[in-house]
Amino acid sequence: MPADLHLHSIYSDGSCTPTELVELARERGLDTVALADHDTVAGLDEMILVGKERGIQVIPAIEFSTYEGDVELHILAYYIDYRNPSFQEEIRKLYEKRKERAAAMIARLNELGIGLSYQQVRKIAGTDYIGRPHIARAMVEAGYVREMKDAFSQEYIGNGGRAYLPKYRLVTEEAINLIHNYGGIAILAHPFHVNGRDYMDKRAIEALVHYGLDGLEVYHSKHSRDITAYYLTIARELGLLVSGGSDFHGENSPGVEMGDIKLVDWYVRRIQEYCRKKQLSYKARR
Ligand code: AMP
Ligand code: MN
Ligand code: MN
Ligand code: MN
Repeated sequence: MPADLHLHSIYSDGSCTPTELVELARERGLDTVALADHDTVAGLDEMILVGKERGIQVIPAIEFSTYEGDVELHILAYYIDYRNPSFQEEIRKLYEKRKERAAAMIARLNELGIGLSYQQVRKIAGTDYIGRPHIARAMVEAGYVREMKDAFSQEYIGNGGRAYLPKYRLVTEEAINLIHNYGGIAILAHPFHVNGRDYMDKRAIEALVHYGLDGLEVYHSKHSRDITAYYLTIARELGLLVSGGSDFHGENSPGVEMGDIKLVDWYVRRIQEYCRKKQLSYKARR
C-alpha cells in the first residue's frame, strides 16, 4: 500500500489538524504517511496515536530549513527521536526565532502600507508558528492582494523581497549532524526547488553526501516526470535512499492534495530497513 511521506499540519503552515490528516489518509487509500512540519514536532504524538487507532502508520518526521551560504535547503528528518528532551530544546530555538522573524516581517509590511497586525496573522496560523503562507493568506483576506502567490513578490514577502527576512541560519552540516545524533535519517527535500540557486545538481548533492546525507526526495508534487527521472538517476549513482511526498499543506497549498505523490512500498521498506539499522546503533550509543 502506498505512502505519502511529506505532510504539514496546523502546527506549522498546514491547515489540517493531525487527526484530520489521518482521516484524509484513509480516504485517499494511503497506509503510511509522515508528518513533517517545519521546525516543530508538536503534532507528532497526536498523529501517531490517532494513526494507531485508525490503521494508518505514521512515521515521525520534521522539515528543517538549512543554509549553505545564501542557499536555503530543506532537509527532512525521518524516524528522529523526537521525544528526547534535549532534541526538543534544540528545536525550540528555531521556533522562537521564527516568531521574532514573523513579527519583524509584519512590521516591514506595515511600513509598506499593509495594515496587518501580528494578532491577525496569528489567528490564521492558530499558533505562534507563523510562516509566509499565513502572512500571504492574511493579505488576501484583508484585500491587499488577490491571491496568495501575489504576496510572494519582490514588493512583499517573496525571497529577497522588501518585507522578506531570512530564517535562523541553521547550517546544513549542523542539521544533518543533529538528525544523526538523535537517531534520524536526513533526506534532501524537493531538490529541484531550493532558494538561492536554480536547483541541486549532482555535484551540489555530492557535497551534502559528504556531510552524511542519506537520501533524496525524488518524488514530489512539484517535480515533473523529467525532473523525477533526473533525481532517480542521481540517487542511484550516489547510493542514496529514495523518498517522496506531496508536501500537502491543506488550504495553504492550493492545488496540492494528499496522495498526489504515492511512494511505492519498495522504497518505504528500504527506508525502514535502513532506519532500523541506524536505530540499533543509536540505542547502543545512548
Ligand atoms: P517560510 O518558511 O515562512 O519562509 O515560508 C515558506 C513557505 O512559503 C514554503 O514552504 C511554501 O509553502 C510557501 N511559498 C514559498 N514561495 C511561494 C510562492 N511563490 N507562492 C506560494 N507559496 C510559496
Ligand atoms: Mn510550508
Ligand atoms: Mn520544503
Ligand atoms: Mn514541506
